[in-house]
Amino acid sequence: MSERPSVLVAGAGLAGITAACELADAGLKVTLVEKRPFLGGRTYSYVDKRSGVEVDNGQHVFMGCCTEYIGLLKRLGVWQKAYLQKRMRVRVIDKVWGESVLQSGALPPPLHLLPSLLRFRSLSPAEKVRAAYAMTRIRSLDRAARRGLDGVTFAHWLRAHGQTENAIRGFWNLIVQPTLNGDVTTVSADLALMVFQEGFLRDRNGANVGWARVGLSALLAEAAREYIESRGGEVRLGRSISGMRVEDGRAAISGPDEDAQFIVMALDHRSLLRLLPKPLREEPFFGRIGHMDTSPIVNVHLWYDRQVTDMEFAAFLNTPLQWVFNKSKLWGQERDGQYLDISLSGAREFAEMPAQEIIELFVREVQSLFPAARTAELKRGLVVKQRDATFAAHPGVSRLRPSQRTPVGNLFLAGDWTDTGWPATMESAVRSGLMAAQEVLVAAGRAAAGKEVVSAS
Ligand SMILES: Cc1cc2nc3c(=O)[nH]c(=O)nc-3n(C[C@H](O)[C@H](O)[C@H](O)COP(=O)(O)OP(=O)(O)OC[C@H]3O[C@@H](n4cnc5c(N)ncnc54)[C@H](O)[C@@H]3O)c2cc1C
Repeated sequence: MSERPSVLVAGAGLAGITAACELADAGLKVTLVEKRPFLGGRTYSYVDKRSGVEVDNGQHVFMGCCTEYIGLLKRLGVWQKAYLQKRMRVRVIDKVWGESVLQSGALPPPLHLLPSLLRFRSLSPAEKVRAAYAMTRIRSLDRAARRGLDGVTFAHWLRAHGQTENAIRGFWNLIVQPTLNGDVTTVSADLALMVFQEGFLRDRNGANVGWARVGLSALLAEAAREYIESRGGEVRLGRSISGMRVEDGRAAISGPDEDAQFIVMALDHRSLLRLLPKPLREEPFFGRIGHMDTSPIVNVHLWYDRQVTDMEFAAFLNTPLQWVFNKSKLWGQERDGQYLDISLSGAREFAEMPAQEIIELFVREVQSLFPAARTAELKRGLVVKQRDATFAAHPGVSRLRPSQRTPVGNLFLAGDWTDTGWPATMESAVRSGLMAAQEVLVAAGRAAAGKEVVSAS
């Protein structure tokens, strides 16, 4: 029998992959089990049969402040497949007020944003002054005060700090909607404030935008599998955990590797709830998870026979377009036509709309904003709806997010939805994996309790 403690990690999304890598590195016998035939979870790509082109399940971007996600890519040796801006630069195209650029300047934070804020066309001079004032208030909020604001919406906080409805829509929501996957009127002030503190106000490079230069499945899945297997671990794809039981205070799962000493459940929260035995579901620690809601993301993929825009990506105002990514440029494939990916966060109305209607609407919007699209031929349109893309960052959500350590001694949780202090992002998933692994190592007597493995946010 192996002397190495054994651990089963269920779910090979970024959280499970991270936990498995960390635990394999620490010398544990790791088995990573995933119900689908590939690693990557909610970050994956596939070849669209009609166009023959690789399509991501949704455009994924990260920011310079996503240090643990960047660390994972470096650890797996795939960092060269990603790109990160040296300095934040985001084009903002307002259908009514024209184009501005939000960029980080040479001044120290928070002044680095000031020159581009002063030139921002969608705000009046008075709104710019008030936005700058709100930024200074956000910067000075300590963590306890910020966390105390979890019960109110960010829109509520902004109004209380002198922001007009135009500034809330035309400036703050621009950042909040994609990062929290929800409209500014529906999301927790705590999480939104955290995004501004970490991304925009702590450091000049925190909001630099990054993306994969390849399809998401080509980014890290294979490297992760090799990393785990080369450290004596096992990766079992296409294998589902079908149930869980608790006997004598210890958890065991039904499915592969039933005898593992430690279990990390790195599933999305709804899948986890379905597997929990009834007595656990009724415990307050687990029961509150059932109150978490989800929020959809819809991506509209448009392939044109020629180039219709020269931008890399841009954010949009006063149009249903939210963010548009020029995939041909991001992937360095600009030879044949142009492939645009329109990313719509918190997209409840589009999740219910028929795909053809969505395509027609966005083709018209692209034509109205990019004159070259009026004469271009649309070769293919595709809508990808992810109805449960992330947990909904509603006010009060922090109280619903469980820690990685559970009341069951050998059972641990990971996933972007567990308590990391971050919104539902790749960074949150990776952080949760590191935090869960640390708790396993403590339980296995391989690490001291209380050590912070990720910096608190
Ligand atoms: C369309 C879209 C766009 C997004 N855009 C961004 C972005 O721009 N930036 C960003 O940072 N984040 C973005 N996100 C969020 C990001 O993808 C997630 O936060 C992250 O991938 C979650 O990882 P995870 O490991 O926590 O969960 P998951 O990736 O959901 O992993 C859970 C895994 O568990 C598996 N599983 C479930 N049940 C079982 C079972 N019974 N047995 C075995 N395995 C099981 C699932 O198949 C899955 O692989 C986006 C998400 C979506 C959907």
